[in-house]
Amino acid sequence: MLTIGVDIGGTKVAAGVVDEDGEIVAHALRPTPADQPDLVAETVADVVKELAEGREIEAIGVGAAGFVDETRSIVRFAPNLAWREEPLQKKITGLVGLPVVVENDANAMAWGETNFGAGRGQTHVVCITVGTGIGGGLVFDGKLFRGRWGMGAELGHMQVVPEGRLCGCGNLGCWEQYASGNALVADAREIARLQPERARILFELAGEKIEGEEVTEAARKGDDASLAAFSSLADWLGQGMADLAAVLDPGCFIIGGGVSRAADLFFEQAKETFARQLTGRGHRPVADIRLAELGASAGVVGAADLARQR
Ligand SMILES: [Zn+2]
Repeated sequence: MLTIGVDIGGTKVAAGVVDEDGEIVAHALRPTPADQPDLVAETVADVVKELAEGREIEAIGVGAAGFVDETRSIVRFAPNLAWREEPLQKKITGLVGLPVVVENDANAMAWGETNFGAGRGQTHVVCITVGTGIGGGLVFDGKLFRGRWGMGAELGHMQVVPEGRLCGCGNLGCWEQYASGNALVADAREIARLQPERARILFELAGEKIEGEEVTEAARKGDDASLAAFSSLADWLGQGMADLAAVLDPGCFIIGGGVSRAADLFFEQAKETFARQLTGRGHRPVADIRLAELGASAGVVGAADLARQR
């Protein structure tokens, strides 16, 4: 039986028809009506109708960035789409007439990666999505961990620096302000401003407009400031994983998200920092740290499978 997974991003709505093996057999895209959040449900219904044409579809899984309640139907708060108490499940069900499951997007990705990607065969997985921020998803004993109210695994918002950088969530010093794509750019800009002689290659590539792509390219060309920014990200990531292991003792970490495409610049160092900072090191098995395998389709595959398992 087929299900449809939908991933609602800030700029596009990606959807796919997915079979039992996690294979996407058809897919479709729409731009997200980001300035009209009320119309997102209609966009989802539209893309579902296109994909369901001529197919027997059992259920729809929808991944959305935001806090999704424990009944997996209401998006309580979504910073990017200005949703407050949005009854997304009810709206989409009303439009498409099929069972709908709504899930936090990072949870959907974690479920997809664990079952069909880098975490296959693993029972205790921590998935860390390193993009502009940090998303988290936990699978424990083979089940998605959602917390009491559906709002668990917001790993990016643990405070790691008291009185630290202001986070989009309103708090200070959250982990995602030190170990995400935004943090990488902030670090590179800071070093370039204070010690411009270390950022010569970066300035050549980016001029005054330093963004993530330029930092990555400059680092690969040996730019000192950009390499230092990646080194900082690697250490914050490794330390964060060691802290998570102290609490959760997973068998496997999966690192995904846009920044993981530059894994050559931070992955080994993050693993070393993790191993060095792990509590009880030398007297415990060390968790595997793997790169995500499904790329951008992890959310679609995961949401579709969560709909199947509803
Ligand atoms: Zn935060």
